[in-house]
Amino acid sequence: MGSELGAVQGWLAEAQTAFAASAEYLDGLDRLIGDGDHGTNMARGFEAAATLLSGNYDSSATLLKLTGMRLLGAVGGASGTLYGTFFLTLAARWSQQMTPAQAAAALQAALTAIRSRGHAELGDKTLVDVLHAGTKSMAAEDPAADLKSAAHRAADAAQQASQDIRPLLAKRGRAALFGEKTIGQLDPGAESMAIIFRLAARHLG
Ligand code: ADP
Ligand code: MG
Repeated sequence: MGSELGAVQGWLAEAQTAFAASAEYLDGLDRLIGDGDHGTNMARGFEAAATLLSGNYDSSATLLKLTGMRLLGAVGGASGTLYGTFFLTLAARWSQQMTPAQAAAALQAALTAIRSRGHAELGDKTLVDVLHAGTKSMAAEDPAADLKSAAHRAADAAQQASQDIRPLLAKRGRAALFGEKTIGQLDPGAESMAIIFRLAARHLG
């Protein structure tokens, strides 16, 4: 299985289950340095997107594009715009059997689009830091590497990045209003982006 329709359906189906299960956890993180709704937002978004899964599509890219549009429409808050942008941008670069280099190019485009939307710099302690780490890992893959193992290494890098930014001061979004209180806390969007990478690795490749 590569990056074709069945793989993307599996990825998005598990995202619905995973975000329903982690809604409490992510809300709890967002309660400490935000307004406590990040888990609820992600669960609502992927629940709305899951109604797309039973449809017939000409390609995995079409399903990713519709998912991005659904997230933009169904999720309020920063994360709706940012994850909507993420899936829409991936969709524009997606193909049925991607190499790690092609996946890296799609991720790089998503990173650029999210940064132009939210103006986050690296080290501002947002989901951008995690997306950057996963993208960098994918871009460093040997051309002969298979997508699944490359995606697992990218997921490891993403998970590590979410831990690595924990000591930083948050400089974007609602968390920025919490100032020094953000030091030592996990960023909720960074954690959800790490989840997205891990689920992708399980289903793609
Ligand atoms: P809101 O902040 O509107 O309540 P969420 O709670 O769903 O939205 O999402 C918060 C997450 O969004 C943060 O943890 C952070 O990772 C991410 N985020 C917020 N603002 C930005 C931004 N300008 N650029 C990148 N990511 C951001
Ligand atoms: Mg919030």
